[in-house]
Amino acid sequence: MRAIQVAQFGEPEVLKLVDLPDPQPGPHQVVVRLHAVGVNPVDTYIRSGAYGERPLPYTPGTDAAGEILRTGSEVKHWKVGDRCYLTGSQTGTYADTALCLATQVQPLPEKVTYQQGAALYVPYSTAYRALFQRGDARPGQWLLIHGASGGVGLAATQWARAHGLRIIGTAGSDEGLRHVLEQGAHYALDHRSADYRQQIADLTGGNGPDLILEMLANVNLQHDLDMLARYGTIVVIGNRGNLGFNPRATMSKDANVHGMSLFNTPPGLMEQIQAALVAGLKQGFLNPVVGREFPLEEAAAAHTAVLAPGALGKIVLIP
Ligand code: NAP
Repeated sequence: MRAIQVAQFGEPEVLKLVDLPDPQPGPHQVVVRLHAVGVNPVDTYIRSGAYGERPLPYTPGTDAAGEILRTGSEVKHWKVGDRCYLTGSQTGTYADTALCLATQVQPLPEKVTYQQGAALYVPYSTAYRALFQRGDARPGQWLLIHGASGGVGLAATQWARAHGLRIIGTAGSDEGLRHVLEQGAHYALDHRSADYRQQIADLTGGNGPDLILEMLANVNLQHDLDMLARYGTIVVIGNRGNLGFNPRATMSKDANVHGMSLFNTPPGLMEQIQAALVAGLKQGFLNPVVGREFPLEEAAAAHTAVLAPGALGKIVLIP
């Protein structure tokens, strides 16, 4: 099989294409032929060494979609050729093939493309967990998705629209703003403009959002606390630095500030997320937006692109 390997932590150029032996499934495992692979920002943090030591070499990636190639002797509910998306793997997903536990694959509905399937696991699961499991989102609430144009933000927009929230989504480019509106936000504002926080105050009648999903907390958390509605909730999803801020802002609003990492999700709650995700895909209110596509061998370029400003949905690799 062809796979990307990281043999040392560093810049994107450490992502090398190699040939590896084809994996064989154990009794409770499946081998998946991958047709599209999702690239997440966290893949770049791990590759750079920012997330600490891990065994080298390794193949990056958790997200992908494809079809079942081989099944283990005890796997009864999957057969060769079934379409699926991955929620992690045993061997990494930046490859043309992945070895998975049977519990790491989910059915991919016919109307969902493989590229869209590669946009599901981390972005849609994170968005669901942030909204409903950490943020306790309820219909009618004002929701600010602070960074709505990327993989997680567009997913959150679709989930929230289907659940009756009033959505303000932010983006930093004209095309991003257009996507945010197309995917269901009621209002789209530019987080690089000088007055967008005033616009949020005006839109919410001076009360501020009840719930904020935050993609860049080191830049925005103080402002979020300033504009949050009383008794409101902020879910910190993304952060890329430190912040000096006044904790008093949490007191004056009785604010709830919840951090989250998808990888902390207890197994039972992850099953709920995947069940909701498959149902949303079948019903059609979840419809992943795929941005740029790169051949597998250009994984380094994809890592540069995923951290660049002007996000537009999901970046995928094609093996
Ligand atoms: P992405 O596709 O690269 O999108 C990044 C988003 O952040 C874009 O909407 C971007 O908007 C926006 N952004 C840029 N500058 C901003 C600012 N000043 N204020 C608000 N938003 C801003 O990344 P993603 O996959 O959606 O992930 C978003 C963040 O969440 C990343 O930091 C990622 O590492 C993190 N994350 C965390 C978890 C978790 O479990 N906690 C899971 C998944 C992702 P423009 O490019 O349009 O400016």
